[in-house]
Amino acid sequence: MRLVEPVVELGRGLWRTLNSMFEKPVTIQYPEEKRPVRPRFRGRHVLKRYENGLEKCIGCALCAAACPADAIFVEAAENTDENRFSPGERYASTYEINMLRCIYCGYCEDACPTEAIVLGDNYELSFTSRSQAIYPKEMLLEPVPDTASLTPRKVEPGKYNRSVPEMKDSQD
Ligand code: SF4
Ligand code: SF4
Repeated sequence: MRLVEPVVELGRGLWRTLNSMFEKPVTIQYPEEKRPVRPRFRGRHVLKRYENGLEKCIGCALCAAACPADAIFVEAAENTDENRFSPGERYASTYEINMLRCIYCGYCEDACPTEAIVLGDNYELSFTSRSQAIYPKEMLLEPVPDTASLTPRKVEPGKYNRSVPEMKDSQD
Protein backbone atom coordinates (compact mmCIF):
# COMPACT_ATOMS: atom_id res chain seq x y z
CA MET A 1 0.00 0.00 0.00
CA ARG A 2 2.92 2.30 0.88
CA LEU A 3 4.35 1.81 -2.62
CA VAL A 4 1.12 2.34 -4.54
CA GLU A 5 0.64 5.95 -3.64
CA PRO A 6 4.08 7.22 -4.85
CA VAL A 7 3.73 5.20 -8.06
CA VAL A 8 0.31 6.74 -8.73
CA GLU A 9 1.66 10.23 -8.06
CA LEU A 10 4.64 9.55 -10.32
CA GLY A 11 2.30 8.31 -13.03
CA ARG A 12 0.15 11.45 -12.72
CA GLY A 13 3.22 13.65 -12.98
CA LEU A 14 4.49 11.84 -16.06
CA TRP A 15 1.03 11.97 -17.61
CA ARG A 16 0.91 15.73 -17.09
CA THR A 17 4.34 16.15 -18.69
CA LEU A 18 3.37 13.97 -21.63
CA ASN A 19 0.10 15.82 -22.07
CA SER A 20 1.76 19.26 -22.10
CA MET A 21 4.05 18.12 -24.93
CA PHE A 22 1.02 18.18 -27.23
CA GLU A 23 -0.50 21.43 -25.98
CA LYS A 24 -0.35 24.56 -28.12
CA PRO A 25 2.72 26.61 -27.07
CA VAL A 26 1.98 29.91 -25.30
CA THR A 27 5.21 31.62 -26.35
CA ILE A 28 4.60 34.89 -28.17
CA GLN A 29 7.13 35.57 -30.92
CA TYR A 30 7.91 39.14 -29.89
CA PRO A 31 8.71 41.52 -31.62
CA GLU A 32 7.03 40.04 -34.74
CA GLU A 33 3.95 39.22 -32.70
CA LYS A 34 2.67 41.61 -30.02
CA ARG A 35 0.41 40.75 -27.13
CA PRO A 36 -2.61 43.10 -26.94
CA VAL A 37 -2.54 45.15 -23.74
CA ARG A 38 -5.35 45.39 -21.19
CA PRO A 39 -7.84 48.26 -21.59
CA ARG A 40 -6.47 50.06 -18.49
CA PHE A 41 -2.81 49.61 -19.46
CA ARG A 42 -0.71 52.77 -19.20
CA GLY A 43 2.17 52.98 -21.61
CA ARG A 44 4.16 55.69 -23.30
CA HIS A 45 2.56 59.13 -23.44
CA VAL A 46 1.04 60.57 -26.59
CA LEU A 47 0.37 64.25 -27.22
CA LYS A 48 -2.95 64.33 -29.05
CA ARG A 49 -4.23 66.49 -31.90
CA TYR A 50 -7.70 67.59 -32.85
CA GLU A 51 -9.22 66.12 -36.02
CA ASN A 52 -8.25 69.30 -37.87
CA GLY A 53 -4.60 68.66 -36.97
CA LEU A 54 -4.16 71.43 -34.38
CA GLU A 55 -2.34 70.37 -31.22
CA LYS A 56 -4.48 69.90 -28.12
CA CYS A 57 -1.67 71.01 -25.81
CA ILE A 58 -1.90 74.68 -24.82
CA GLY A 59 1.33 74.78 -22.83
CA CYS A 60 -0.42 75.44 -19.48
CA ALA A 61 2.01 73.13 -17.57
CA LEU A 62 -0.71 71.76 -15.30
CA CYS A 63 0.57 68.27 -16.12
CA ALA A 64 4.05 69.26 -14.96
CA ALA A 65 2.62 70.67 -11.72
CA ALA A 66 0.63 67.48 -11.08
CA CYS A 67 3.53 65.12 -11.80
CA PRO A 68 4.80 63.62 -8.52
CA ALA A 69 8.07 62.59 -10.14
CA ASP A 70 8.90 65.97 -11.68
CA ALA A 71 9.23 64.18 -15.02
CA ILE A 72 7.60 66.78 -17.29
CA PHE A 73 9.09 70.03 -18.56
CA VAL A 74 6.87 72.47 -20.50
CA GLU A 75 7.74 75.82 -22.01
CA ALA A 76 4.97 77.85 -23.66
CA ALA A 77 5.01 80.38 -26.50
CA GLU A 78 2.38 82.61 -28.10
CA ASN A 79 0.23 81.45 -31.02
CA THR A 80 -0.62 83.90 -33.78
CA ASP A 81 -3.11 83.42 -36.61
CA GLU A 82 -0.16 83.37 -39.06
CA ASN A 83 1.70 80.78 -37.02
CA ARG A 84 -0.84 78.65 -35.16
CA PHE A 85 -0.04 75.37 -33.40
CA SER A 86 -3.05 75.02 -31.11
CA PRO A 87 -6.33 76.80 -30.34
CA GLY A 88 -6.12 79.73 -27.92
CA GLU A 89 -3.26 82.01 -26.91
CA ARG A 90 -0.43 79.62 -26.26
CA TYR A 91 1.11 76.33 -27.31
CA ALA A 92 3.92 74.18 -25.93
CA SER A 93 7.12 75.25 -27.68
CA THR A 94 9.00 72.68 -25.57
CA TYR A 95 7.44 69.58 -24.08
CA GLU A 96 9.65 66.89 -22.60
CA ILE A 97 9.07 63.82 -20.46
CA ASN A 98 11.90 62.09 -18.64
CA MET A 99 10.93 58.43 -18.96
CA LEU A 100 13.47 57.40 -16.32
CA ARG A 101 11.50 59.40 -13.75
CA CYS A 102 7.98 58.56 -14.89
CA ILE A 103 6.07 56.11 -12.71
CA TYR A 104 3.05 55.89 -15.07
CA CYS A 105 0.64 57.13 -12.42
CA GLY A 106 -1.52 59.01 -14.96
CA TYR A 107 -1.78 62.21 -12.88
CA CYS A 108 -0.63 64.25 -15.90
CA GLU A 109 -3.55 62.83 -17.91
CA ASP A 110 -6.02 63.73 -15.15
CA ALA A 111 -4.69 67.27 -14.77
CA CYS A 112 -4.80 68.20 -18.45
CA PRO A 113 -7.73 70.54 -19.27
CA THR A 114 -7.73 69.69 -22.99
CA GLU A 115 -7.07 65.93 -22.80
CA ALA A 116 -3.85 66.54 -24.71
CA ILE A 117 -1.60 64.16 -22.84
CA VAL A 118 -2.68 60.53 -22.79
CA LEU A 119 -0.90 57.41 -21.65
CA GLY A 120 -1.10 55.12 -24.67
CA ASP A 121 -0.50 51.42 -25.27
CA ASN A 122 3.11 51.59 -26.41
CA TYR A 123 5.37 49.65 -24.05
CA GLU A 124 8.44 49.62 -26.28
CA LEU A 125 10.63 51.96 -24.28
CA SER A 126 14.32 51.44 -24.72
CA PHE A 127 17.28 53.75 -24.52
CA THR A 128 20.99 53.40 -24.02
CA SER A 129 21.73 56.73 -22.34
CA ARG A 130 20.07 59.14 -19.90
CA SER A 131 19.66 61.79 -22.57
CA GLN A 132 17.77 59.37 -24.83
CA ALA A 133 15.30 58.80 -21.99
CA ILE A 134 14.08 62.39 -22.28
CA TYR A 135 11.37 62.22 -24.93
CA PRO A 136 10.83 65.54 -26.73
CA LYS A 137 7.58 66.88 -28.15
CA GLU A 138 8.43 65.61 -31.66
CA MET A 139 8.49 62.03 -30.34
CA LEU A 140 5.35 62.40 -28.24
CA LEU A 141 3.12 64.24 -30.69
CA GLU A 142 0.77 62.01 -32.69
CA PRO A 143 0.92 62.22 -36.50
CA VAL A 144 -1.27 64.73 -38.33
CA PRO A 145 -4.50 63.06 -39.57
CA ASP A 146 -4.57 62.44 -43.35
CA THR A 147 -7.37 64.95 -43.81
CA ALA A 148 -5.59 67.79 -41.94
CA SER A 149 -2.57 70.00 -42.57
CA LEU A 150 0.62 70.39 -40.55
CA THR A 151 1.22 72.77 -37.64
CA PRO A 152 2.13 75.60 -37.49
CA ARG A 153 -0.30 76.92 -40.07
CA LYS A 154 -2.02 80.13 -41.09
CA VAL A 155 -5.66 80.31 -40.02
CA GLU A 156 -8.62 82.66 -40.34
CA PRO A 157 -8.20 85.54 -37.85
CA GLY A 158 -10.14 85.07 -34.62
CA LYS A 159 -11.24 81.51 -35.45
CA TYR A 160 -9.41 79.75 -32.60
CA ASN A 161 -9.73 82.11 -29.62
CA ARG A 162 -10.71 79.46 -27.08
CA SER A 163 -7.95 77.32 -25.54
CA VAL A 164 -10.30 74.78 -24.05
CA PRO A 165 -13.02 73.32 -26.30
CA GLU A 166 -16.59 74.19 -25.47
CA MET A 167 -18.31 71.35 -23.67
CA LYS A 168 -22.00 70.49 -24.14
CA ASP A 169 -22.34 69.60 -20.49
CA SER A 170 -20.17 71.21 -17.79
CA GLN A 171 -20.01 67.82 -16.05
CA ASP A 172 -18.36 66.21 -19.14
S1 SF4 B 1 2.45 59.38 -15.59
FE1 SF4 B 1 2.76 60.28 -13.54
S2 SF4 B 1 4.97 60.26 -13.25
FE2 SF4 B 1 4.61 59.93 -15.43
S3 SF4 B 1 4.74 61.96 -16.33
FE3 SF4 B 1 2.58 61.59 -15.86
S4 SF4 B 1 2.27 62.42 -13.81
FE4 SF4 B 1 4.47 62.24 -14.11
S1 SF4 C 1 -0.42 68.46 -21.84
FE1 SF4 C 1 -2.27 69.39 -21.02
S2 SF4 C 1 -1.74 70.00 -18.93
FE2 SF4 C 1 0.20 69.61 -20.02
S3 SF4 C 1 0.83 71.59 -20.80
FE3 SF4 C 1 -0.35 70.60 -22.43
S4 SF4 C 1 -2.45 71.32 -22.14
FE4 SF4 C 1 -1.36 71.78 -20.23
